[in-house]
Amino acid sequence: MAVSLPAIAALYLSVNAFSCSGVAATIAKTRVSRSAPARLKSLIGFFMAATVFGSISATQANSRRKIVAESRSAGYSTLSENPEPADWRPPLLVMNIHEYQARELLQKFDVATTRGRVAATLDEAEQIARELGDIDIVVKAQIHAGGRGKGSFKNGFKGGVHVRKTPQEVREVAEKMLGEILVTHQTGQAGRLVNKVLVAESADIAREIYFAVLLDRATAAPLIVASTEGGVEIETVAEKSPEKIIREPINPLAGLQTYQARKLATQLGFESSQLKNASKLFEGLYRTFIAYDCSMVEVNPLVVTSKGEVLVLDAKFNLDDNALYRHPEIAAMRDIAEEDPREVEASKHGLNYVGLDGNIACLVNGAGLAMATMDIIKFYGGEPANFLDVGGGATEEQVTEAFKILIADKKVKAILVNIFGGIMKCDVIAQGIIGAAKTVKLSVPLVVRLEGTNVERGKQLLKESGLALIAADDLADAAQKVVGAAKGK
Ligand code: GDP
Ligand code: MN
Repeated sequence: MAVSLPAIAALYLSVNAFSCSGVAATIAKTRVSRSAPARLKSLIGFFMAATVFGSISATQANSRRKIVAESRSAGYSTLSENPEPADWRPPLLVMNIHEYQARELLQKFDVATTRGRVAATLDEAEQIARELGDIDIVVKAQIHAGGRGKGSFKNGFKGGVHVRKTPQEVREVAEKMLGEILVTHQTGQAGRLVNKVLVAESADIAREIYFAVLLDRATAAPLIVASTEGGVEIETVAEKSPEKIIREPINPLAGLQTYQARKLATQLGFESSQLKNASKLFEGLYRTFIAYDCSMVEVNPLVVTSKGEVLVLDAKFNLDDNALYRHPEIAAMRDIAEEDPREVEASKHGLNYVGLDGNIACLVNGAGLAMATMDIIKFYGGEPANFLDVGGGATEEQVTEAFKILIADKKVKAILVNIFGGIMKCDVIAQGIIGAAKTVKLSVPLVVRLEGTNVERGKQLLKESGLALIAADDLADAAQKVVGAAKGK
């Protein structure tokens, strides 16, 4: 199977461009515990442990160089050489889509799934059920989080996945889901509002399998992860019975080979009569993963029905935002209602914001400094509430907006501004802080550590502004002061 060169280049870049804030932010998201990417985090941790952390063999490094050289000679430039496309939008870090949208994409690659459609109203749900005919029908709440089956609604209704027999019963179940809040182990206590339900033919399940294609950072290549223990949390399987996790690395130039698909199908216990369909399904999933520049396509469960059919029942996609401009049809699937409102607001102003669970807000420039700042806060016993990366060339207005976002977060008990002025000038940051303080009341302690270009001017501006802030000399000093301030000391 041919893999397009831009896809390879994108793959290469997405794994290697650590200096790009978007990518580093993605890594941070998987490093710092947060509900949605938690499963990815533990998976990555699992694979990292199984390989030599961060080290790449000379052969791999050479083959990477070759891939980039080839894509260059074919006329594709690297991201840094590429001018931003006219319709460029602020990065999302990782884009998720709904199950019903994932099914639409999979169907384009002939991946077998059940018949069904999405409904936003009770009438639609009932109508779809009627069209599906006199069969068992499954109704599934559509949210960007897993664990729906075992979740429960705030209205007391248990489970976000239900099988019913008649259109009337489908309507009744949809009524308990639509407009209601579903809480699962991945949503956190706040839960998620259900705006749509998937109404589909129910599969008569004989066996549930786990199957995922993801980007393995350690080898900078796609990796298939599969297990006969599907339908349950894969993290638990990886922890309790690691021998039940099958891993198949894929050469990105060659793609998934027929022998590999067959080998996987055999390892997953498919009977000889099912091997062909299973292999075809795996190939379709791999092609989808490559075609849409995904960082993960996860199917849990992939099922064998009582009649021996092989089907995808639940699919989750993570898409690389750096490649979204190549897929306008996917960019259009973005559901802002499912995203962290703080991140949505930041992205409007071209800022890189990552929401976390602690109480110390961090305003930094550069992903490396963001990581170091979060590490040192944790080292001194604090927890970051977020980090907001103003990047290299933020304007005073952007810094002001950044500050407003940080202050608006009710969880925030202290703010740390940690700026190393390189391209970003310290006086611009200072002006931004002063500007923000004029429009929003600074209700929590603010620790500022500035260093680098125009630092004296920046410090002077802050001093003259009369703002109550805590000045810090270096990173350690700043971290200790902000951790203390957040604890009310
Ligand atoms: P998740 O809990 O968010 O991962 O949602 P899933 O779509 O994976 O559904 C959870 C569980 O519900 C699956 O593991 C299946 O056991 C069950 N389930 C999902 N779809 C169907 C279906 O069509 N028929 C039947 N009988 N069970 C289903
Ligand atoms: Mn599932």
